[in-house]
Amino acid sequence: MTQSDRPTEFDLIRTYFAPLAESEAGAFGLTDDAAVLPIEQGRELVATTDTIVAGVHFFEKTPADAVAAKLLRVSLSDLAAMGATPHSYTLSLALTDVISSDWLGAFSASLGRDQDTYGITLVGGDTVTTPGPLTLTLTAMGTVLKGEALRRNGAEVGDDVYVSGTIGDGALGLLVALDKLTQLSKSEADFLLDRYHYPRSRGNLGERLFGLAHAVADVSDGLAADLGQICQPSRVSAVIQSHLVPLSDAAKSVLSLDTQHIQQILGGGDDYELIFTAAPSVAEKLNNISEEIGIPVTRIGSIVPETGEDVVINDERGEAILLLHNGFQHF
Ligand code: ADP
Ligand code: MG
Repeated sequence: MTQSDRPTEFDLIRTYFAPLAESEAGAFGLTDDAAVLPIEQGRELVATTDTIVAGVHFFEKTPADAVAAKLLRVSLSDLAAMGATPHSYTLSLALTDVISSDWLGAFSASLGRDQDTYGITLVGGDTVTTPGPLTLTLTAMGTVLKGEALRRNGAEVGDDVYVSGTIGDGALGLLVALDKLTQLSKSEADFLLDRYHYPRSRGNLGERLFGLAHAVADVSDGLAADLGQICQPSRVSAVIQSHLVPLSDAAKSVLSLDTQHIQQILGGGDDYELIFTAAPSVAEKLNNISEEIGIPVTRIGSIVPETGEDVVINDERGEAILLLHNGFQHF
């Protein structure tokens, strides 16, 4: 977008973002200095922020609707991992010259679709320009009943370890996007790419886990890394059986082409599934919830006393799988 056809900040907010704020009266149509949001008595506010940067978290070529979905859903996933019900979000955009009205239209339309799906509303934000790269920050707010937020630090020795959905599709989807998985069928490649671009936030599951799960996190950096984030504050270790880790058909195909891809599946990130621990006595309850909400929940291992290693992953023969890259780290 050049200087001449760039709408003013006011026009841009009115055209693309004010329609997303209509259902929250306290957003004042994005015309006031800040939003004023009512919270039900007996509930607490849960807030989380994520920033995504072009060239770091997504490609310059990634379609605007996928950028929007990723931006919102990674924060929804954090709310899910806290057991929070989505409420509202703010959006901070540092836009570059290449951003067009088409891009903004597709971006805001995608946010609108996800607002309907996940029950969340835009209530404010900020808009600036930057020489680059395109940088987007979203702060999501949700609510939980007082004292009922799900934490990472409660895992107990003897707990089972569970994950939702399937693991590895996000990291394998990234390989597809990088043209590094060329032997897959088109439908398998498309499936993985879709999982990478459009993670499924597991809010319906998180909201049901209070009183059942002892510790919960979302799988954003990789199964082993995120389980480690449960083990450390809980002062326990985890033993995972790799053959129990639920895989999509596409991920199974990838593994059959090259078993080394187990590295990406267990060590890569971008799944946005939930990982949690719970006592064996609640297994049947978890099963029933899983069926009711239509989100698979699979037991993949156990919590054991602290061994000095947060997470051990064994293969079918009981031999430890050594992960070369344990999760995505910026620093
Ligand atoms: P201020 O000068 O106080 O920073 P702005 O002119 O930046 O106010 O914003 C005006 C209104 O538009 C505010 O209500 C703000 O929350 C909202 N707003 C600005 N940018 C965005 C955006 N990208 N998404 C949603 N709301 C926005
Ligand atoms: Mg401003």
